[in-house]
Amino acid sequence: MPSSKFILQKTCEICGKQFNAKTVYSKFCSKKCSNAEYRKKKAQEKQEEKRKQLAERIPAERPYISITEAVALYGISRDTIYRQIRKGNIPAVNLGERLNRINKANIELMFPPVNSSNIASMKEQPQKLIYDQSECYTIGEISEKYGISPSTVNKAIRKNSIPRKQIGKFVYVPKAEIDQLFDNK
Ligand SMILES: [Zn+2]
Repeated sequence: MPSSKFILQKTCEICGKQFNAKTVYSKFCSKKCSNAEYRKKKAQEKQEEKRKQLAERIPAERPYISITEAVALYGISRDTIYRQIRKGNIPAVNLGERLNRINKANIELMFPPVNSSNIASMKEQPQKLIYDQSECYTIGEISEKYGISPSTVNKAIRKNSIPRKQIGKFVYVPKAEIDQLFDNK
């Protein structure tokens, strides 16, 4: 392939600068940027390792966990947890400053655990829906009502951390939250 005459402009994935790529696989403008990417990846791996270790130390039979433990166990952000607490979807017991305790069963209804070792404890919990089924839409119903594709609906649900629950073949999400989300658009 005559690659010497071939100039491909690409945007560096680290610094965002335009650069002349040597191959279609080039992602970074310089050695410096590819090193930065490598360090970023390593740091993420380390953080994921820490998360796993913390998650494994949480006894499965303990019903109440801290926010930090919930982050480790469910791979969700603190912001998401606090938002769901504010909305009343996750009841929190405040044991003093920085000592919020939340019930694992409540989170598991919304967010499946990341670690398979914790799934066993989830199955022992009685399955209950925070919202009555009559207060919920299925993905198909939302797609029809708002004229959006099911995959777009799913993405929006995930992006906005809307509580969802799978019963049989269907995923149920609260009508109130969905109407609020899509009516605003
Ligand atoms: Zn760069």
